[in-house]
Amino acid sequence: MTETQKIVIIGGVAAGPKICAKLLRTKDFNCKIDLYTEEDMISYSACGLPYFIEGLIEDVNRLIVRTPQQFEEKGANIHLNKRCTKILPQEHKIVIADTKTGIIQEVEYDKLAITTGARPIVPPIQNLHLQNIFTVRKIKDGIEIRNKIREENTKKAVIVGGGYIGIELLEAFYKNGLEVVLIERDEHILSIFDPEISDMIKDEIVKMSQGKVNILTSEAVIAFEGDDRVQRVITSKGNIIETDIAVIATGVTPNTEIAAAAGIELGVSNAIRVNNRMQTSIKDIYAAGDCTENYHLVSKNYCWIPLGSTANKEGRCAAINIAGQYDAFPGVLGSAVTRYDGLSISLTGLTETEARKFGFDVVSSVMTKKDKAGYMPGAENITIKLVVDKRLKKILGAQAFGNGDADKRVNTVASAIMADQTLDNFLHTDMTYAPPFSTAVDPLISAALLISNQIYK
Ligand SMILES: Cc1cc2nc3c(=O)[nH]c(=O)nc-3n(C[C@H](O)[C@H](O)[C@H](O)COP(=O)(O)OP(=O)(O)OC[C@H]3O[C@@H](n4cnc5c(N)ncnc54)[C@H](O)[C@@H]3O)c2cc1C
Repeated sequence: MTETQKIVIIGGVAAGPKICAKLLRTKDFNCKIDLYTEEDMISYSACGLPYFIEGLIEDVNRLIVRTPQQFEEKGANIHLNKRCTKILPQEHKIVIADTKTGIIQEVEYDKLAITTGARPIVPPIQNLHLQNIFTVRKIKDGIEIRNKIREENTKKAVIVGGGYIGIELLEAFYKNGLEVVLIERDEHILSIFDPEISDMIKDEIVKMSQGKVNILTSEAVIAFEGDDRVQRVITSKGNIIETDIAVIATGVTPNTEIAAAAGIELGVSNAIRVNNRMQTSIKDIYAAGDCTENYHLVSKNYCWIPLGSTANKEGRCAAINIAGQYDAFPGVLGSAVTRYDGLSISLTGLTETEARKFGFDVVSSVMTKKDKAGYMPGAENITIKLVVDKRLKKILGAQAFGNGDADKRVNTVASAIMADQTLDNFLHTDMTYAPPFSTAVDPLISAALLISNQIYK
């Protein structure tokens, strides 16, 4: 039997518990695991919060993947309400402060995993201290927002920021009968999409919302006003919008201050730089999840795309390497999906805008088609944009939205990119077809054929 290794994990939402669970399952690795989190719970789905706020998920406990007790029964030690304030790499120790008592302790490690994630960015808006202004990241945020929108006198809401979390909250509020104004500083909502696709999505959302939802773009929130609670929102264009609740969803920033202070190298957006084995620049310290930088498989550049899907994959990879085995995480495509009511919205790889920025010789196609045979009940439109490099004939990315089955097309493209397929090869993908599921020529293949027609005129 090998000597017992002391494994310490900081952070307990997605990446941290993943590392813990994988290590607990690893045979022939003799370890003592201590996980520290500043929260009073671990292992929950932040991704599910919009659906809890909406009321689709009634019981918040459904968002909890595993309880501390479940981990402890398997042999891990879970320390709640404990914040790591310092990493001392020379001494192989971390400093922990109890968030309730303030008691400080030092904890030794043989291998350390930093999974401190990210936190919401709050822009410098006036009067942020007013009541009923929220961000959404943690379970308690979800509970507070849901309680507020269920109050009888909550009729109007403002969402600051039109990223995917803003859109998911828009759906939650709209479905609860609120009048909602979403305010986006940029020219387009969902700016990770190409502008014309974002605009089509925006039009679709407004159309579907029957006058209950208003989306303002190129307009920033500069002040909140009210007595003790928010009552008005003031915008850069001088609009005054009455509201009962405001949620700020203007993006996130990685929690990497303690890593930086310990001399660990940071990369894009101040996320922790890791190699493909999730090792940081300091020996015996690993990192995974939203606090780490990513390598983009298409642009071949470093990026920061914090997602729960990636956090889980990176956590698994980190655990395998911590246990002394070998695993390599290749990188990300930034594949993401969200929805607004029945509208599915997804993308993978590079948009045309990004591909041009990285110097690709871009050719693209946009097409709208039914997701299944047009005569079938339930056939719905989907719009697909495919981005290809003309010279390399490589698929660079796809964006898709629609009331039909859009994301399965995007997932197909994600697989094609991972497999380094050429356009010519991709065109002949042997996809399934029967009228309830697709069209004889799948919409995705039609989009690819449009590009092929542009290349081989
Ligand atoms: C509303 C919402 C919807 C989302 N939807 C999706 C989705 O549909 N799909 C998707 O892929 N992703 C989604 N995400 C993103 C996803 O939730 C994150 O990518 C994921 O939670 C990252 O996990 P993580 O463990 O890396 O970090 P985090 O979830 O940020 O967890 C880090 C933990 O570490 C703790 N911590 C930080 N510093 C310290 C310290 N010094 N000491 C102790 N503890 C510390 C934090 O308090 C936190 O508990 C969503 C996020 C939100 C908020």
